[in-house]
This record gives sequence, structure tokens and C-alpha cells, in this order.
Amino acid sequence: MNEVIAPSTPTVEIYARKYPDVPMEVILKEDLLRLGLSITPDGLAVAKGKRQQAYYLFSYNISDHQEMGEEMSTGAPEDIIFRDGPYGLRRTSVRVVLNDKSPYALDVQDGKTVITQNGVVVADAVYPDKPAYYGRTFDDGLKYEQVVPLLYNSYAFVTTFRACHYWGDKEECRFCDINYNLREIRRLTGEHVTADAIKDSDKVVGVLGAMVDEPDPANRLITIIMTGGSIVRKVKGGPDNAADFNAPYVAAIRERIGHRVPIVMITESQPMDKLRVLRDAGITCHNANLEVWDERLFKWLAPGKDHYIGYDTWVRRLYDAVGVMGEGRVSPNMVSGIEMAKPYGFETVKEAVASARDGFETLMSHGVIPHLDTWCIEPGTRLSENPPVSLDFLIQADIAWYETWRKYKLPPFEGYGPMGSPGVAVYGNTGSVDMGG
Ligand code: SF4
Repeated sequence: MNEVIAPSTPTVEIYARKYPDVPMEVILKEDLLRLGLSITPDGLAVAKGKRQQAYYLFSYNISDHQEMGEEMSTGAPEDIIFRDGPYGLRRTSVRVVLNDKSPYALDVQDGKTVITQNGVVVADAVYPDKPAYYGRTFDDGLKYEQVVPLLYNSYAFVTTFRACHYWGDKEECRFCDINYNLREIRRLTGEHVTADAIKDSDKVVGVLGAMVDEPDPANRLITIIMTGGSIVRKVKGGPDNAADFNAPYVAAIRERIGHRVPIVMITESQPMDKLRVLRDAGITCHNANLEVWDERLFKWLAPGKDHYIGYDTWVRRLYDAVGVMGEGRVSPNMVSGIEMAKPYGFETVKEAVASARDGFETLMSHGVIPHLDTWCIEPGTRLSENPPVSLDFLIQADIAWYETWRKYKLPPFEGYGPMGSPGVAVYGNTGSVDMGG
């Protein structure tokens, strides 16, 4: 006899029966990342004085700023921890994706901050505290968090070049809203938002200095992630490539803070001589984001990357980069779920997972550890009309990633903090880091 499932049963419970070997934390995290959440007025009130969204590069939200209203758009916490609740979940870090039509909400019930699904509590929620240096200002009035925000209580997120030279329909990646988001930010007035396209090196170094000097272990800096848009021509009359543009920032940061924490540099694919420039300046890891394994989909989804570099060169350089940087230090992002993007993506979960698994297998066999970021379907992108990513795909991709990672006995990808078991990981953008245990 089939089991009867009440209509109000939360998704995490239904999927835990379907995937009994997958931690419930992974299921809830992936569902929150793909569907986002709204925040009730009580839930928003709790966010006052907490670390709030800083719009660091992409909007990373499903609802746009107008739809949410500025109070929500600028008042929401950047990321949260969920834990306990009716399922006794272990503490799990997740990025806050705002979607005012989501079945999930941050709310306050019986004096506790919680996550609900259609009004049913699924977990307790903890908002992030502000570190002591948030609110400090430079002489021109710019706040520290406007220059470098803190993510997950432990990552410095540095966007040196906040635009992308891949421009327009023929070049911009179809899932990316970097240039749209910069235009949006310039229309916002939120005081923690800054729209400077190019970050001032002295200010970046100043904030990172304050971050490494932070005495509170709860907000201890464990990594610096540096990223920005692609560079294909001179920026303000200076360097015409991402390596030469970023190397002086890296050298200045290393001079101030030393080598204790890793620097993850994310740029478009670089030739090995340029990669060595970055390595010698002081980066620890280099991630040239491949985004999707299937070549046909790469050409469609990332036309600028295909035009300026090409799929074969991109992949070959990833293999070569392991020889320069070492295993665990080449970890390109894959947009998990984009495999099923309409209208040209795979039509079934089975085909999409098979393609993703093929990519994990091939890349990991060369010592490249792709890392997954769950696709956030942002309103300013060419794929904004797509339905939410399949939860089955996300869970099965996480399983495939974890099995392949174990098979090749690879280390955690460096610069993203601990991973490999629920309750351990810090990275909030994928459930794959919470697999295992
Ligand atoms: S290369 Fe693609 S994903 Fe990266 S910033 Fe440019 S458009 Fe966005």
C-alpha cells in the first residue's frame, strides 16, 4: 500500500524518504537555494543590526529590488545558519536568496527565529552578527563593508572589477547579471551599497587588514575570495587582462596580511604565463569558471567565453593549471542546474546528471575539483523565465560530485573552508559541501 503523505508535509521530509542516504541538511539547503525565501515583517525586524546583504557582484536574488521593496532589499541578512527544528538538523550555512513568492519564509514563531515552508516550521534560523569593523569609515565616508563585505562570518569577498567586458547578447553569459546588477546598484540608495566599478587598492588592503586583526573567533577571517568580470581591453588605460590587473592588488594584500589565509582568485581562463604572474604575486588558488561541462551548452550559455577562449582551450588550461597551482587549488565553478536550462538544455534529470557526472569524472581525474554553485535564476538575465531548477537534479548532482571526489581521494577545494559533512561546512552556495558524515 502506498504511504499517504499529508499535503502540508515539508519538502525536506518527502525528499528524505526518497533519498534516505542524503543528509536532510543537503536537501533543505538545495531547496532554499533554488526557491529562495521571503521574510515576514517580524523576520525582518530581527535582521536590524545584523550583517546585511551587500550586493557584492551578481544580484544573487530571484526577486528584483523593485519587487521586494528597498527595506527588504537592503535589510535582509546576507546569509544564515539553519539548525535544530523538528528534524534536529545540524548547523548549516546557507546564502539568503530573496524571493517574495517562495513557499519558504524567515519568520518569528514563539519567540524563535525560524524557517517555515507554507507556514510549517522546518528549522531554527540564526542571523549573522556584524563584525566590529562594520560601520567604520574611510576619510571620504565610504564604509568598510562597502569596500569588502564579509560572507558566512569568515570570507572576505573582494570584487576588484565589478563589470564584465563580455558585453550584450552575443557575449554575456546567459545566466549572469553582473552588468545589469551594476546598473541596478547605481539606482539604489542603500547606504551599504557602493557602485564603484573598480575598487581602490589602498581601501581594499585597509579593510582586509581590519579583517585579519578581528579578535572575535566567531568572525575570524579564513579566506579571501577575489573576483570580477572578464577583462579583454585596457581598464582605464592600464592592464588589458585580468592577471596584470589583479596582481598588484594581490601583492599589496600579501604585504599587509602575510600568507596565513588563502587568496582564491577567480578570473576568466588565463594562459600559464599569466597564471604564474598571479601565483608569484601571492594567490593560493585559481578558478577559471567553466560553468557547464557539456560543450554544446557551454557555447550557448557562455558565448563570450567561447568566443575569446574556446571550450577546448578552457578545459586544457584547467588541467595545466593543476601543474602550476597544485591539487585542490584549481576549482572552477559549475552552475548546478543550468544543464536543464530551457530551451536547449537536457530535458530529463537522468541525462543532465549523466553529463554533470561525466564532467566531474573527467575533471577530477586530472586533479581539477569543480565546485558547484546552485543556479540562482536572477531576474536580469536572459534565462530569467526558466522554472526553478529540479530538486532531484540538485540532489543527484551533489551525490555524483561527492562520489567522484571520494573516488579520486582529492582534498577539499582550498579557500572555501571546511567541508565533507553536515555541521562542518561554511560555504553556503551548494549542498555538495555538506555531503558525507
Ligand atoms: S564571464 Fe560570464 S559569468 Fe563571468 S562576469 Fe562575465 S558574463 Fe558574468
